[in-house]
Amino acid sequence: MDGSCKPVEGASKKATDAPFYLAQGDECALFEAASANNLPMLLKGPTGCGKTRFVSHMAARLNRPLYTVACHDDLSAADLIGRYLLKGGETVWVDGPLTRAVREGAICYLDEVVEARKDVTVVLHPLTDDRRILPIDRTGEELEAAPGFMLVASYNPGYQNILKTLKPSTRQRFVAAEFDFPPPDLETDIVARESGLDSARVRSLVRLAVKLRALKGQDLEEGVSTRLIVYAATLIAQGMPVERAVEAAMIEPLTDDADIKRGLLDLVVAIFG
Ligand code: ADP
Repeated sequence: MDGSCKPVEGASKKATDAPFYLAQGDECALFEAASANNLPMLLKGPTGCGKTRFVSHMAARLNRPLYTVACHDDLSAADLIGRYLLKGGETVWVDGPLTRAVREGAICYLDEVVEARKDVTVVLHPLTDDRRILPIDRTGEELEAAPGFMLVASYNPGYQNILKTLKPSTRQRFVAAEFDFPPPDLETDIVARESGLDSARVRSLVRLAVKLRALKGQDLEEGVSTRLIVYAATLIAQGMPVERAVEAAMIEPLTDDADIKRGLLDLVVAIFG
């Protein structure tokens, strides 16, 4: 938990432009080691805790192109691999993001991979073992991943939906790292940096978030994410009254239940009032 994330040796100058990411532990070193050894990586953790930012940061540091796919329940293997499309009366093959990443030696990030259709996992298997191949049935090609190709997937184990969990046969192909909301001091630094709001006011928002997270499983299905605290802080930095900003960014997105909302607003008044 040292929060350090040292520059990669030999990385190009561009890497210094990497999006801001404050490390919670040794995840940067783990990512680098996985990448250097052609190992795919699975990021587990609640929504809005920094997984996507981490991947963009690492891709920039390692100077690799990044293809991010937000998975949804209609996403099929063809969406990732590619398809024949009609262009000017001709049928042409168009690579999907996974195929492009495999050809270019890029990082392909499948965000919320459990949401995708089942045929997607079938495609991932030969890519996540030492064969590193992507068979494209439609064209008859069998692509060998270019050096540098890395598959990264994320999922949120907290949803507790038995139908939407990753099968052991898939999960056991990845090096995995668990992410969670950062400890309050780190989270304060992150939110202050992202929103421009002063640390003193951010600290109160983080304190509220910690209290709201403690209600997860009782009144709330999901805790407040770091993303939502950044939203609240951004609104406040723009001049919006604290209570209104907190209601809009940290309470309304969490629940539709009027009684619960009222209870949470009381908590806000107790902290900020
Ligand atoms: P996830 O992919 O886990 O849903 P994101 O990576 O999109 O979450 O994070 C949401 C937002 O929270 C980011 O856009 C960023 O503003 C902020 N954030 C969260 N964790 C960090 C971190 N460790 N360093 C920098 N920003 C962070």
